[in-house]
Amino acid sequence: MSEVKVRFAPSPTGRLHVGNARVAVLNWLAARSKAGEFLLRMDDTDRERSTKAFEREILEDLKWLGLDWDDFVRQSARQGRYDAAVARLKAKGRLYPCFETAEELELKRKIQLGRGKPPVYDRAALDLSAEEQAALMADGRAPHWRFKLADQPIEWTDLGRGAVRFEAGHLSDPVLLREDGRPLYTLSSVVDDGEFFITHVIRGEDHVANTAVQIELFQALGYDAPRFAHLPLMVGADGKQLSKRLGSLALGDLRAQGVQPEALVAYLARLGTPTAPEGSDTLDSLTPGFDIAVFGRAAPRFDPKELAQLNAKVLHRKPYAALAEALRQAGVDEALWDAVRENVESLEDAPHWAAAAYGEIEPERAPEDEAYLAQAADLLPDEPFDAETYPVWIGRLKEASGRKGKGLFMPLRRALTGRAHGPDLGALLPLMGRARAVRRLKGG
Ligand code: GLU
Repeated sequence: MSEVKVRFAPSPTGRLHVGNARVAVLNWLAARSKAGEFLLRMDDTDRERSTKAFEREILEDLKWLGLDWDDFVRQSARQGRYDAAVARLKAKGRLYPCFETAEELELKRKIQLGRGKPPVYDRAALDLSAEEQAALMADGRAPHWRFKLADQPIEWTDLGRGAVRFEAGHLSDPVLLREDGRPLYTLSSVVDDGEFFITHVIRGEDHVANTAVQIELFQALGYDAPRFAHLPLMVGADGKQLSKRLGSLALGDLRAQGVQPEALVAYLARLGTPTAPEGSDTLDSLTPGFDIAVFGRAAPRFDPKELAQLNAKVLHRKPYAALAEALRQAGVDEALWDAVRENVESLEDAPHWAAAAYGEIEPERAPEDEAYLAQAADLLPDEPFDAETYPVWIGRLKEASGRKGKGLFMPLRRALTGRAHGPDLGALLPLMGRARAVRRLKGG
């Protein structure tokens, strides 16, 4: 068995967003850098909210990122294992039935908070006698079941946060079984991590309190607890919480916007570390020497602008074949891609360059440039056009008009491409052809 075995455990109750993708990428790198194993686990015990469509999309997203996995498991197929764990906990007296309704619990919480106390479950259900329990059940009340935490502090050395300690009495006994007998995540995750021999759990710091109770649960169930690494959650570029905006940062949406998987992987793998991502980073190049300890304690900022810049660098390196489908759809052939690729910022611009080279665009012509543009049309060399056409043309225009710098070429760029920025005009001109160019320069 390998020394490192990690897992990524998405819930198919929604789409993967950049926060999930970061956890997936870092787990994958942690496994591969130690020749370890990567388990993909679908946490699909929530039958109402889990869907096959979300599961399919998650698998597609992970493959798009370039991740592979050694084993795949669905929690919905492991009910028997959770039942067995429940039986062990009951036999040990660590599970107790509770009958409070959600409203009653909410009221208790409000009262505690009102008194300035932490909203920890008061264990009132432990005071119920066997007769009282029987009477409630006879009345048709189904209990949910809580795990009785030992009254002692819980401590561990976190690979992300260092020493962590929860004092006794600061955590509620967690509910492990719902009224309908189905296990909750706290239990199923521990049973799976224990039975799949997971060595390291790398996840967001929103799970720190779960970890505390899960460590006790590993012990109670007789499993070896894994090591834990909790990563600070990403915040937005403005430093504000990202959680509410994560829905708009779904991988499927980024993909549709032309974000390249290499760019996203490089960005997420370096975010929160002292090393800047490179356009040449790949999963393979990031693997050797990967170390979860280099991730800082400060919340990293997810900045779409930085991602876009990295994405542009990745695009500049990509040959036509690697993007053929997306480019073909946008009407961009190989010659055009080679002409534009070093100056593209985003694939979303691709249809525009296709129109500039082979179709129609709306030329931008300022009234004060009309005479200059007419002159430019007259001085445009004859076909065939090649790489020399543009420098020759610019040379003629410079002499004839006396213009230089921006005043010389910007009106040409605006008229020929409809934009102030973009690919090298010298490369674009031969694809555009003389007739199209003259039409745009002369207007009308
Ligand atoms: N399904 C859980 C989640 O998506 C997994 C958390 C964990 O890594 O243990 O939050």
